[in-house]
Amino acid sequence: MFLIFGTTLRDRVLDTVRFVCTYCGVAAQQRIIESATKLSLFFIPLVTLGRRHAVVCTNCGGATPLTKDQARHGLDWAARNREIG
Ligand SMILES: [Zn+2]
Repeated sequence: MFLIFGTTLRDRVLDTVRFVCTYCGVAAQQRIIESATKLSLFFIPLVTLGRRHAVVCTNCGGATPLTKDQARHGLDWAARNREIG
């Protein structure tokens, strides 16, 4: 009997916000991304080993790592601004 196991990295776009990018200086959509490292068995993801967050510019692709609190704050900010209009 043999086991095939490993880790996979899954990216998920949590939300998009619009502000001036610190890399390219363009006011563009910025994606708040959660990258989850998952332990997989026979290529089926089973357990999440860790999560990282980042904001990625859709114009230049520049990525800035975020802490979990910064990502949550960004999501709250996006939700608040969406309600206002
Ligand atoms: Zn940019």
